[in-house]
Amino acid sequence: MKRPTISATILIALTALFITLVLNQPFWHALAQRLDLATVEGFSFALTFASLMTGLLMLLFLLLGQRLLLKPLLIVTLFVSALISYFNGIGVVIDDEMLRNVLETARDHNSNEAAELASASMIRFLLLYAVLPSAAILFLRVRHAPTLLRGVGQRLLWAGGVIVVVAALVMLNFKYVTYFSRENRDLRLTLNPFFPLTSAVKLYKREHAAGDRQFTVLGRDARQRPHGKKRVGIMVVGETARADRFSLDGYRRKTNPLLERESVASFTNAWSCGTSTAYSVPCMFSFLDRRHYSPARASRQSNVLDVLRGAGVNVVWRDNNSSCKGVCERVASENFHHDFDPASPYYHKGEYTDEILLENLEALIEKTPDDALIVLHTMGSHGPAYYKRYPEAFERFTPACRSNSPHECPDDEVDNAYSNTIVYTDYVLDRIIRFLREHEDRYDSFMLYASDHGESLGENGVYLHGLPYLIAPEAQKHIPLIAWLSPELERKIRLSPKTLADCTDEPVSHDNLAHTLLGLFDVSTRLYRPELDLFAGVCRQHG
Ligand SMILES: [Zn+2]
Repeated sequence: MKRPTISATILIALTALFITLVLNQPFWHALAQRLDLATVEGFSFALTFASLMTGLLMLLFLLLGQRLLLKPLLIVTLFVSALISYFNGIGVVIDDEMLRNVLETARDHNSNEAAELASASMIRFLLLYAVLPSAAILFLRVRHAPTLLRGVGQRLLWAGGVIVVVAALVMLNFKYVTYFSRENRDLRLTLNPFFPLTSAVKLYKREHAAGDRQFTVLGRDARQRPHGKKRVGIMVVGETARADRFSLDGYRRKTNPLLERESVASFTNAWSCGTSTAYSVPCMFSFLDRRHYSPARASRQSNVLDVLRGAGVNVVWRDNNSSCKGVCERVASENFHHDFDPASPYYHKGEYTDEILLENLEALIEKTPDDALIVLHTMGSHGPAYYKRYPEAFERFTPACRSNSPHECPDDEVDNAYSNTIVYTDYVLDRIIRFLREHEDRYDSFMLYASDHGESLGENGVYLHGLPYLIAPEAQKHIPLIAWLSPELERKIRLSPKTLADCTDEPVSHDNLAHTLLGLFDVSTRLYRPELDLFAGVCRQHG
C-alpha cells in the first residue's frame, strides 16, 4: 500500500487543531457553561480563542519542528497533552506544585505511586487520543520543501499568516476577550498544554532561584528544661485524610470506633498548609507560617525536628510513604517503602500497611536515655487505589471500589473504600495510644496526628487532591488533627481534660504543629511562639 503524502504545514495545522479541540474538552466544557455559544459574542469569543490556541501551537511546531524533528515533536506533544487532558478531565490541575510532586515522585523512585495512577481508563484514553493519532502521523509521508532555504521561507510565510489571522480575530473581539478572560481567570488552569507549560517554566525559575541561597540554622538557643521522667512523642503524619470522614469530627458512619473510646482531643476546625504531600509535609515541620511558607524557603532553614534534636531530643523519622520530602535530612530516618518483602506480615497488595511503622518502637525509644520523638509518615488514605490501604479485616463498608480510577466506580463505593482507610487509620492510631499507655510508668508521652491534606471523592466531578489552594474545595484542606496526652503529661503542662475538650473547635492549622512540639518537649527558645502551641496557647487562652 502506498503511504499517502501530506505537506509539513498541513500536518502541523491538523495536529494543532486536534489538540485545541479534542484534547481541551475540560476547557471547552467549562467555557460552554459560562458562555452562550448561540450569541454572536459568545460564538466569536470561542472562535477567537480556538484560533489563538491553534495559532500558538502552530507557531511552536513551525519554529521547532524542522524536518526530522517534526514527527517526534508532534508525537511527544500529543502524548503530553493527552495525559494532561485525562487528568484535567477528573478535576486535577497540572500547576507548578503538581509538577513538583511529579518530579519528587520520580526522585524518590516511587514507581508504585506512578503505577497506581496508570489505570485501565487512562490507558484507554491514551490509546484513543495519543497512540492512534501518533500512528497516523507515523504512517503519513511528510512532504518538505525541496531546499532548506525554501522550507524556512515557507514556514515564515505560514507563521506570518497565522499571526495576522489570529491578531485580526483578537482585535475584532478585543473588548469581549479581555473582559471575559479577566472575569474567568480560573479557566486558564485547564488550557492544555499552555498552562502546564508556563507552570513548568515557573517551577524551573523558582528552583533555580532557590539553588544559590544559604542555609539558615534556627534555634541555636534551644534547650530542654528539666522535667523529670523521660518524655516520648509519637507524631503521625497522615496521608490524604479528610476531616469529614472521621466520626470523631461528626461523620455519620463509625469510622473511629476505637479512638472514640479513648480520651483524645480531636480538633474539628483544622486546616492544611497545602493540598499536596510535597507542599504540606515540609510546611508541617517548618517555622514559616502558611502565608510566608514555600517549599524552597523552608528547605533553606532548620525545621522543628532540627531544633528538637539540637535541644537534645532523640528524633527518628520512619517512612511508609514516598519520602520525608527533605524534612528528615538532618535527623535519623528509616524508609520502609521499597524492596517489599512478600513474607512480611504487613505485606499487602504490593506494599506495606501502616502497621509496619509500629515495629520495634520500644527499641527505637530506648536507644538513648534522651527524650524521643518518633515521626511516622503513613500511607493513610493515599489514592486513587484506596482499597489497597487496609487489610481485608478492615473492610467495614461494602461494596468498596476496587479500581485505580475512582471516577469509574459509583460514588458510594468510592466513599466506602475511602472510609475503610479511615477505619484502619483509627486502628493504627489506637495501637499507638495503647503502646504509650502500657509504658506510662516509664515515659510521659503523647501522640499527635495530623493529615497532610484532604481528598476530593468526586464532588462536582473532582477527584484526588492538589488543586491550587485558592480554588481547592474544603475537602482537600479540612484535615483531622488529633492529640492524645498521657494523664501525667497533661497534669505537668497544667492542662485539664475539660480545657482540652472546650478548645477543640478553635480554628487551627499546620502552623500550630512546630510550636506545639516545642511546647510538649519543654524546649525554651526564642523561636517558640506560645500563642501557636495547641496546648499552651490555643487551649489555655480558651480555658
Ligand atoms: Zn499527601
